[in-house]
Amino acid sequence: MKKLIILVYLSACIGFAQNADEKQLKSVYSTSLTNGQSYAWLDHLSNEIGGRLSGSSNAAKAVQYTKAELEKLGLDKVWLQEVMVPKWERGDAEEGYILTNSGKIEVPICALGGSVATKSGGVEAEIIEVKGIDDLKNLGKDKIQGKIVFYNRPMQADLISTFEAYGGCVDQRYAGAKEALKYGAVGVVVRSMNLRLDDYPHTGSMGYEDVAVADRIPAAAISTNGAELLSKQLQKNPKTKFGFSMFCKQYADVKSHNVIGEITGSEFPNEIIIVGGHLDSWDLGDGSHDDGAGVVQSMEVLRLMKQTGYKPKRTIRVVLFMNEENGLRGGRKYAEVAKKKGEKHIFALESDAGGFTPRGFSFDCSPENFAQVESWKALFKPYLIHYFEKGGSGADIGPLKDDQIVLAGLRPDSQRYFDHHHASNDTFDAVNKRELELGAATMTSLVYLFDKYGTVKEKKIKG
Ligand SMILES: [Zn+2]
Repeated sequence: MKKLIILVYLSACIGFAQNADEKQLKSVYSTSLTNGQSYAWLDHLSNEIGGRLSGSSNAAKAVQYTKAELEKLGLDKVWLQEVMVPKWERGDAEEGYILTNSGKIEVPICALGGSVATKSGGVEAEIIEVKGIDDLKNLGKDKIQGKIVFYNRPMQADLISTFEAYGGCVDQRYAGAKEALKYGAVGVVVRSMNLRLDDYPHTGSMGYEDVAVADRIPAAAISTNGAELLSKQLQKNPKTKFGFSMFCKQYADVKSHNVIGEITGSEFPNEIIIVGGHLDSWDLGDGSHDDGAGVVQSMEVLRLMKQTGYKPKRTIRVVLFMNEENGLRGGRKYAEVAKKKGEKHIFALESDAGGFTPRGFSFDCSPENFAQVESWKALFKPYLIHYFEKGGSGADIGPLKDDQIVLAGLRPDSQRYFDHHHASNDTFDAVNKRELELGAATMTSLVYLFDKYGTVKEKKIKG
């Protein structure tokens, strides 16, 4: 009998907790959708400030703006964390053309981030198409010397995760130049990382590693339509020439900041949960999806907690990281300082996959913690959030990884993300208000659950 009473009591407790969680999630989603702030913040970040490449005056403006907005929320602490960042500028608009028997055909190109400029007057040379870095070895120096290498492996269209398709192609962009120069290439042109055929060239980071500055060759992205046209032209005439001019410049590192704010935990202030996105963006658009969306959603997590009257037990911190795109200095700095201070981070969540309809999260954690997360899945069902999988989290929070922490990334629908990624059409009008707000509410809900229940390891320690 006693056992039965205990059992009834326990299941009543669990039922009560579930009910409280359902209510809290409902309140979070309703507040985000009817009284949200994320879209207005994004409007300012995108339309009043614009593209925010590390080291630029816009990046500095974004630091000041988000700090001031966090201060308005009445958090317990808001501060800037100093970090040195690289500074690279595109300069004047690039020009690219295919040289045919009947004249020049202009094609849309842009410099890849970190590329050197072309010599004055530009580069004009025969161009040779490859499907990837491996092809260089087969062709050898004989066929490549003195030419421009054209990397034209498209993103794989039958992969449902477009991030997977991106991962399968991006080596051409990052390492294409440093590999091609070993064979005497004079430049590289890389097909844009975009599944759609259109006229937008997509930039993104590339690296020369330890190649001396004098030996570096310029690297450009070409729009997908441009790549198709160039490939057709090469089929007609393998001796086709390509020309391009770029005016970019690398400067010495400059001082910048991560922006941080927190609500101090009422019971376990030393246990830290962070939520974040990256404040810097590429310069071609205004960085609304990448990663203005993640920035404002992360700020909104703390605001929604306050708005719904939830007082966290643990410390909830928003971190707006600087320099994800071309250096990851902000993410590294944050982890370095946290380690030095001996701070204990139990959960980190990043939103850096666009402001599209949220589907769920991917988790980088122990099986025990993943089991706990799966037990929360039913709470998200009314919001059509169903994707809870093991996988990567976010670039900025990656440096915090240890065997204790749970890392997670918000996973929105990814089908349209690469239409905009790192291109001039990554703009405010491409973000849907409700989709953005649903993402913020979804993040807040997961942070709430981790705050309330902690991670599995901790619970064991506490008994
Ligand atoms: Zn990003």
